[in-house]
Amino acid sequence: MSDVRTYLVLLGVPGAGKGTQAKLLQETLGLPQVSTGDIFRYNLKNATELGVLAKSYMDKGLLVPDEVTIRMVEDRLAQPDCAAGAIMDGFPRTLQQAAAFDALTAPHGGVRLAPLIGLSDEEAVLRISGRRSCRTCGAIYHAVANPPRVEGVCDKDGGELYQRDDDREEVVRNRLFVYYKQTAPLIGYYFAKGLLVELDGAQPISDVFAGLQAALAAHAALPTHS
Ligand SMILES: [Zn+2]
Repeated sequence: MSDVRTYLVLLGVPGAGKGTQAKLLQETLGLPQVSTGDIFRYNLKNATELGVLAKSYMDKGLLVPDEVTIRMVEDRLAQPDCAAGAIMDGFPRTLQQAAAFDALTAPHGGVRLAPLIGLSDEEAVLRISGRRSCRTCGAIYHAVANPPRVEGVCDKDGGELYQRDDDREEVVRNRLFVYYKQTAPLIGYYFAKGLLVELDGAQPISDVFAGLQAALAAHAALPTHS
């Protein structure tokens, strides 16, 4: 195979720290973090053909079909910064998407590794429902783990801190339900392919990252992108 690329698929419940670890991996591996949220925002903002199509479903309150999402991901992975691979954060989200992603990446050696960042449901709920965001600058605090100096006020600009709707406890519990229904089957999917590695997401961020790097070195024989 002449054009082998490095595709990593990060798995874990909402709040496990996939985005945080993806950013750290991006810095050390020089591969871009590809998140579905960013892809959707880009396509909607720029009113691309796929963005307009996606919006037509969202405006009706319908889920965007997998094939539209998959085509957006395909476009994103064709960008020059993805020439050596990508760190997938939030995609694939379903077994159908995982199969499509396998087909998409097969010419480049397929998925290299699927790290699962493990976290208990209760810890996930505590982490997310404790988040407070600044209305002005978007900075994120946590009621327990990273409180602002003055309750309800942003340290950086004095902006008002609030809880995003998505972070409300009942919404988080529903996000977990959707995760178990749609995304958790991917754990078995990648395990069966010998690509799953499990990490303890309750550890400090730097320890999770050290474990991730060790797993990559042991399982993935990453090429150096020099
Ligand atoms: Zn602020």
